[in-house]
Amino acid sequence: MAGAYEITRDGLAELLADQPRYRAAQAWHGLHQGLRRPTEMTDLPPELRERLEVALPPALRVGARSESDGGATVKWLWELHDGARVETVLMHYRDRATVCVSSQAGCAMGCSFCATGQGGFGRHLASGEIVEQVVAAAREAAGGGRRLSNVVFMGMGEPLANYDRVWAAVTRLHGELGLSARHLTISTVGVVPGIRRLAGEELPVNLAVSLHAANDGLRDRLVPLNRRYPIGAVLAACRHYLSAKGRRLSFEWALIDGVNDADADADELAALSRPLGAHVNLIPLNPTPGYRARGSSPGRVRAFRDRLGAAGVNATVRRNRGADIDAACGQLALRAAGGEPVTAPGRG
Ligand code: SAH
Ligand code: SF4
Repeated sequence: MAGAYEITRDGLAELLADQPRYRAAQAWHGLHQGLRRPTEMTDLPPELRERLEVALPPALRVGARSESDGGATVKWLWELHDGARVETVLMHYRDRATVCVSSQAGCAMGCSFCATGQGGFGRHLASGEIVEQVVAAAREAAGGGRRLSNVVFMGMGEPLANYDRVWAAVTRLHGELGLSARHLTISTVGVVPGIRRLAGEELPVNLAVSLHAANDGLRDRLVPLNRRYPIGAVLAACRHYLSAKGRRLSFEWALIDGVNDADADADELAALSRPLGAHVNLIPLNPTPGYRARGSSPGRVRAFRDRLGAAGVNATVRRNRGADIDAACGQLALRAAGGEPVTAPGRG
């Protein structure tokens, strides 16, 4: 069972067919706007709360919860009904609160430097399992008097490899949790058909593409999917997305010491980014057990950023949130649960 947020509005009405019509509306409102479990829906009669609590169980059970950055970063390890495990990270900033959600348990894409990729694929998450991660983060934020404003699909998994469920979650977050499409970001390693499908959707979400290399020789080594969808095809899909949606495009670039952090790499990246007006997010590589290289030094990170800037490309260095609780990008690999990440064969 994928939990309370898997149910549709019609499904809920059917479940409550023996009740006055307004009860379904109350329960729906309680789940989405109230962020409440049925037992907390005090506007419903107690027997109805009990019944809904059983019919609409939570999809996520807390396996572990940790905080860092003085409480500004919260990470959950969730256990799903079938034993699958995923993680969610909530990050408070001065002006916003962002949740980083998982779209799959594990990932099949096998990027060499990514802890999730090193662990292999588990299964797709249901849309209810994705929505509930956001609900949990929104509840946490509300508990501290803050409002969750942004959702990024940058946790475990490749969102565009689980398109239908991810998109169902996006429309639910937008339509029922009231999150603006401008504040939803899908990050992809470059699943070209998925980017093209996204361009045809009505909701204009932000697109982030994890590039990491600006030539096919290097990208083939870092991102195996590049052999199927090389850089040219990815960029063509990005252009299509931009012309269809007019949304901000960003490139993610994990800066790896001695691998993709030279001036020449910055120049190549600038040449690709400028015509698209793409924003570049630089993330110093987080160390993972299955990949030997290190993140670029702070000086190199700055030089790389400045070189992009001088070439007319807007680049920011992403603050490394929650590194001490393994909450940073690429570190979501269930180590909190003792699950040893597996090294992908022939890498590292
Ligand atoms: N599968 C999607 C989204 C999840 S990964 C994607 O690849 O875009 C989220 C981001 O974390 C991606 O940009 C990914 O390249 C980056 N990442 C993965 N491992 C990392 C590591 N060890 N250090 C820094 N960033 C990493
Ligand atoms: Fe999957 Fe993204 Fe990690 Fe690559 S970087 S293995 S696509 S989660």
